[in-house]
Amino acid sequence: MIIIDCIFCKIITGDIPSNKIYEDENFLGFLDINPAGTLNGHSMLITKKHFPNKLEEMDDKLIKDFFVVLKKIISAIKKVSGTDSINIIQNSGEKAGQIIDHIHFHIIPREEGDGIIISENRQHKKDNLKEVAEKIRNSVEN
Ligand code: 5GP
Ligand code: ZN
Repeated sequence: MIIIDCIFCKIITGDIPSNKIYEDENFLGFLDINPAGTLNGHSMLITKKHFPNKLEEMDDKLIKDFFVVLKKIISAIKKVSGTDSINIIQNSGEKAGQIIDHIHFHIIPREEGDGIIISENRQHKKDNLKEVAEKIRNSVEN
């Protein structure tokens, strides 16, 4: 069922065509329409249920199952693209480059000189790392 006007929900229902690489009851994998880099295989793995693009919205069991499928897809893409290098990217939030508001992970096969730049910007302060780590540790919920 399409809850909102969502491209990925329409891919799941077949209203928008896609090149599927994986499908089961809960998840769908398909090639990105605008692949990054130089190797074939840039894919998306998404949940069939519409979650906004935040991992925190998914329930724990689904997250565990998701990563088991992700592992299989990583192996398949590495095999087909002939590389041992891959990026797993989840853009969550507009400032992080998110465009589609339906949980998705990018699986991008990498090779030398493929032009993808993740980030070389490391300008944050390094003198407060202890304090930052403590704050995050104290904010982790059980
Ligand atoms: P985001 O920036 O939200 O993490 O990534 C969205 C991705 O979805 C982009 O890489 C874009 O190329 C891909 N995409 C957008 N529309 C479609 C579509 O209709 N079909 C497929 N296969 N991929 C899409
Ligand atoms: Zn959706």
